[in-house]
Amino acid sequence: MTFFARQDRALAALQTRGRYRALIARTGHDFASNDYLGLAESEVLNTAARSALERGVPVGAGGSRLLRGNADEHVLLEQEAAAFFGTQAALFMGGGFQANTAIFSTLPGHEDLVLYDALIHASTHDGMRLGRAETRAFAHNDVKAAKETIKSWRTEGGTGQIWIAIESLYSMDGDLAPVAELMKLADTHGAVLVVDEAHATGVFGDMGRGLSHAFADRENLLTLHTCGKGLGVSGALICGARVLIDTLINKARGFIFATAPSPLNAALVRAALNELRDNPARQVAAQDLMNHAHKEARERLGLAGFQSQIMPIVIGADKPTMTLAQSLQDRGYDIRGIRPPTVPRGTSRLRISITLNTPAPVISEMFRDLARAKEATAP
Ligand code: PMP
Repeated sequence: MTFFARQDRALAALQTRGRYRALIARTGHDFASNDYLGLAESEVLNTAARSALERGVPVGAGGSRLLRGNADEHVLLEQEAAAFFGTQAALFMGGGFQANTAIFSTLPGHEDLVLYDALIHASTHDGMRLGRAETRAFAHNDVKAAKETIKSWRTEGGTGQIWIAIESLYSMDGDLAPVAELMKLADTHGAVLVVDEAHATGVFGDMGRGLSHAFADRENLLTLHTCGKGLGVSGALICGARVLIDTLINKARGFIFATAPSPLNAALVRAALNELRDNPARQVAAQDLMNHAHKEARERLGLAGFQSQIMPIVIGADKPTMTLAQSLQDRGYDIRGIRPPTVPRGTSRLRISITLNTPAPVISEMFRDLARAKEATAP
C-alpha cells in the first residue's frame, strides 16, 4: 500500500472512532480561546500596533537573534519582562512550544533527571525527547510521589542535576499546582523547578505575574510565560537566572537557528505587560467572571471544585463529547470537545474557557443550555 492510501485509511479510522480533527471556523460566543483577558482584539493592543508601526518598528526581524535579527524591541522587551517578573534575565521566543523544547532539550544534561508531572504539556514531552537526561513522571500534583521518585533515583546512583517540570495551571484540567510545596521540594534536593505559567500569566498572581511569582528571585526557578494566551499576542518569555538564560542563548538550537520573532510582536508584548501592570481592573474582572462561572456550574450542573478560568466538563467517551460540543455550537456557543491524545483515554471533555470576551449573562445562559443538552444526550 502506498503512503497516501495508508494515510487515507488511517484518517478514515480516526473519523469512525470520533477522533478526527478538523479546522472549524470561529463563530459564536467565545468559550474556547485562551484570550483570558480579552486583549487579543482589544483597543489597547490595536493602538500599540499602530503606534509601533508609526515609530518605525520593523515588521520582520530579518534573521536570527545572534545575527542581524536582534532588534531594539526584543532587547527592551526582555529587560522589561525581567523587571516585571522579578528575575535576573528573560529570553523572548517565537512561542511556548518552541520555548519548552528549547529548555528541555538544552538545559538537562545526560547525567540529569527530569521529573515531570504526569499531565505536563506535549511541548515539554517533545523537549525531553530531544534532550539527553533521564525522565520520570510523577502522579499529577502529588508532591509526595515526586519526593519518592527523587529518593529512588538517588538511591539507584543518580548524581546529576534534578529538574522538576510542572505547569502552574493545567491546560486541560484547570487545576492549580502546589507550587510552594514543589519549590520547597526543589530547594531541599538542590533541584531546579521549571514552571510553565502558560495559562496563569495575566490571570493569577500579583499583577498577573503567575503562581510562582513569590519565588521569582530564586536561582533554581525558571518560568515560562507564553504570550499568546492571557497576554493576547504570541511568543513566549523564559524568565530566570542569568546563567540559565545565557546557556539557552548559547546552546538552544531552537533559539540559535530560528528567525527572531517579529519586532512588532515584541512591541505588542511590551504593551500587554504594561497593561497588566497599569490596569489591574482586567485581572480583577477575569477573576470575578470565573467566580460567576463556578457558581453557575455548581447551581445548574451540580459540579464543584473548579479552580480557574479553565473548566473541564468530563464526559468520558469521544463521540458523545463531540456530539454535545456540536449541539452547543449549534446554539451559538463556541465550545470545543477535547479528546485523546490531548487528554487520557476515557476522559474526553468539554473544555470551557472563561474569558473577558464573553459577558456574565451569556455565561449563565450557556450553563443553562449545557445542563439541558447534557440531560438530553444522557444514556
Ligand atoms: N505550555 C502549555 C501549558 C500550553 O498550554 C501551551 C499552548 N497550548 C504551550 C506551552 C505552547 O505555547 P504556544 O502556544 O505559545 O506555542
